[in-house]
Amino acid sequence: MDHSAPRIDFALIGHQENWQKVEILVNTMRKMEGTEPLSLAAIKDIYPYIPPRKVFDITVNTLRGEPVQGIYVETFISPEHINIKHLQQNLSKVKAACICAASEGARIASLGGFTSIVLEAAGNPLQEVKNTFFTTGNTLTASFICKGIIKACEQKGKDIHQCKLLVVGSTGDIGSACVNYFAGVIHSLLLCARNNKQLQQQAASLQEKDINCQASVSLNALLPQADIIILVASSPVENWDTNLLKETVIICDAGYPKNIIRHLPVHLKQSIFCGGMGFISPGFYFTPKYMEDFYQYPCAGVSHGCLLESIVLSMEKKFEAFSTGRGNISKEKMEIILAMSKRNGIDVSPFFNTEEIWLSSPSPATTNYE
Ligand code: NDP
Repeated sequence: MDHSAPRIDFALIGHQENWQKVEILVNTMRKMEGTEPLSLAAIKDIYPYIPPRKVFDITVNTLRGEPVQGIYVETFISPEHINIKHLQQNLSKVKAACICAASEGARIASLGGFTSIVLEAAGNPLQEVKNTFFTTGNTLTASFICKGIIKACEQKGKDIHQCKLLVVGSTGDIGSACVNYFAGVIHSLLLCARNNKQLQQQAASLQEKDINCQASVSLNALLPQADIIILVASSPVENWDTNLLKETVIICDAGYPKNIIRHLPVHLKQSIFCGGMGFISPGFYFTPKYMEDFYQYPCAGVSHGCLLESIVLSMEKKFEAFSTGRGNISKEKMEIILAMSKRNGIDVSPFFNTEEIWLSSPSPATTNYE
């Protein structure tokens, strides 16, 4: 660490999921510097060459004492490079972003969204650099997804015990946490990913425990049965047939790039929500004032579970690699981080999709499936 840098509580390392968001980010940065906006074409030319850096400071209020102070570090990974095919290029950006977080004196940093996938794919799960601990944030993300599903079922009058749950990306870190959370609670599990060998291994280990499940690499083969769908695939899900969806389906799209949310028929818009999101009831703000231009959600006060995990850990002064590696998220850890989150005033976000809010009350899920 740069010992002259005063310590801050947390750093959030992130990336933009599409060029529209990149354009807003870059031109907000330019506005703050007093320079003219650039066209999207010009931005696309330079974006891959911008080194990771801190963009703004963040202050987050808590119900339990002093606010925590942190920073947002942008990796400047191009949206079309959010793919394991670009591993080496992405890896150097993610590593540089981690070093930036450490140099800025962060005690803990979240490896947001795709950034932890890059480190894992390169066989390099990161726990600590120069006294800065790193967490993937996937445990709190999985908690928000699962509690969100429970809350959505309550709102829509669905008996979760009678439902068939489809998890797309079921063999991944977040997907497998959701599968394990609902195994034995839900009527049956439908598992989907592209690697059939891993998928069949996952199904076999569940069946050994007498859990009802079915696995297929073909999403369309599973869609007609699904009452609830959790989407946590790390790449866009192609060629899915919306005509196969049940009219009463509930869909939680937590993947980036968004797995299917943008392709959903209008009549199902009130059935889909962006998942893995939390709501910070005591509030937060950015310095300089990036919020006005850069913060693009239909409701205020929300952020990603993966980013919120390091914020919650810093509120609890628990500076440790809470979520690391793949397949290590237990139901117990999900409950622990959610309890910490709630006592600081951060809970499952209201339901919204890219266009609208379909449930405005941020009341927490009340049912506990221990
Ligand atoms: P992992 O890499 O651990 O898992 C990804 C899973 O998706 C694997 O099961 C993979 O299996 C599957 N997959 C990838 N592409 C496809 C596809 N086209 N069709 C079907 N299955 C696919 O990722 P994580 O669990 O860490 O993250 C999952 C997603 O969640 C990512 O998109 C990530 O950005 C997002 N995320 C969201 C957060 C939030 O706050 N909402 C927070 C953190 C992450 P296979 O390769 O066999 O297909």
